[in-house]
Amino acid sequence: MALRQPENMKELVYFTNRDIGTGFARAWVFKQPCPKCGKALMGKPVRPDGGVKIRSTDYECQSCGHSVPKEEYEPTLSACVEYQCPHCGNAGEAEIPFKRKKVDGVDSLQVLCAACKGKVNITKKMKQGKGEFDEE
Ligand SMILES: [Zn+2]
Ligand SMILES: [Zn+2]
Repeated sequence: MALRQPENMKELVYFTNRDIGTGFARAWVFKQPCPKCGKALMGKPVRPDGGVKIRSTDYECQSCGHSVPKEEYEPTLSACVEYQCPHCGNAGEAEIPFKRKKVDGVDSLQVLCAACKGKVNITKKMKQGKGEFDEE
C-alpha cells in the first residue's frame, strides 16, 4: 500500500507533522470533488479577498455553492497517516476516516500500530506550528 502524497497544500484540508513521544506522525487529508456538480473541490469558503475562512463550520463548493456542515462532511473524507509507533518503533502507514475521537478530553485522530496495536494519537493542537494547518 502506498499513500498518495500531497504535492501542494492547496490540495489538502488538513496537514500535520509532529513528534509523538519517541515516534512521529504525519497526516494529511485531500480535498474531494463536490458531490453535487463535480466541477470543483469542496473546501472551506473563500472570502471576497481570496482568503479562506478556515474557522467556517461548513465546507463549500466554489463552483455551485453546495455547502455541507463539517461534522457531516469530514467523516466522509480519508486521512492518510504515516507514523513511527511511539510504543514499538514500527514505521507504518494507514488510511483512516477523518473523524476525531476524544482522547483525554482532546480531539484526536487515532491510528492503531500495525505491529503492536498500540494507539498513535494525533491530538488537535490549539496553536499550530509552522507548515501545519487545520480548519480551526
Ligand atoms: Zn459543486
Ligand atoms: Zn507499535
